[in-house]
Amino acid sequence: MAPSLAERYQAVQAGLRPGVTLVAVSKTRTADEIRALYELGQRDFGENYPQELREKAPQLPDDIRWHFIGHLQRSNVKHVVPVVHLIHGVDSLRLAEEIDKRAAAAGRAVDILLQVHIAREETKHGLSPDELRDAVRSWPWSAWPHLRLCGLMGMASNTDDRDQVRREFEGLKQLFDDMGADARPAGAFNTLSMGMSGDADLAQAAGSTLVRIGTALFGPR
Ligand SMILES: *Cc1c(COP(=O)(O)O)cnc(C)c1O
Repeated sequence: MAPSLAERYQAVQAGLRPGVTLVAVSKTRTADEIRALYELGQRDFGENYPQELREKAPQLPDDIRWHFIGHLQRSNVKHVVPVVHLIHGVDSLRLAEEIDKRAAAAGRAVDILLQVHIAREETKHGLSPDELRDAVRSWPWSAWPHLRLCGLMGMASNTDDRDQVRREFEGLKQLFDDMGADARPAGAFNTLSMGMSGDADLAQAAGSTLVRIGTALFGPR
């Protein structure tokens, strides 16, 4: 018999190291599926698409912490900012600037992570390590009072080569440790978002503080 949602949830929780936050990745899942996991106690959920977030959030309890983990376009920032708890994928100055502007308009501060490109695969998303250093040190953070830079996010290569994945996570952890002293506002830089269903164990061994897990909770998409 296939394991129940409660059994899968328990198995995922059993794999969490102390202090590591579990974000349940609920892209493509219905509001009912999300509510079922909420009723088992889960409060952090991750969505990739602004439209889906906008449709589902109003149907679900107010105390859910919504994480935006997808690629965010500037034109969609205004839809995400009012409901979001943490935006994981910030990778350009103009996106950060837009989030600050929309956060100011909404009368709130928004927590963000900078996304770093650590995988071998080619992608447009994520800063290179050099771009990251430049972003942390040279973007005009003090001109953005409605943004809080809370840490980094990354995705490892989609490969069976576990050594490769481990090295990528260790590289991101090193960058996280190196950037902490320079990040502004001081004291907020405490989140390292890395690890998914297939590699959460390696990510946590390397120092992740937050894992984003979909398939292992809800089954295949
Ligand atoms: C879909 C997704 C996940 C979850 O992946 P699973 O393999 O289903 O656990 C995590 N992070 C991001 C950025 C995603 O897009």
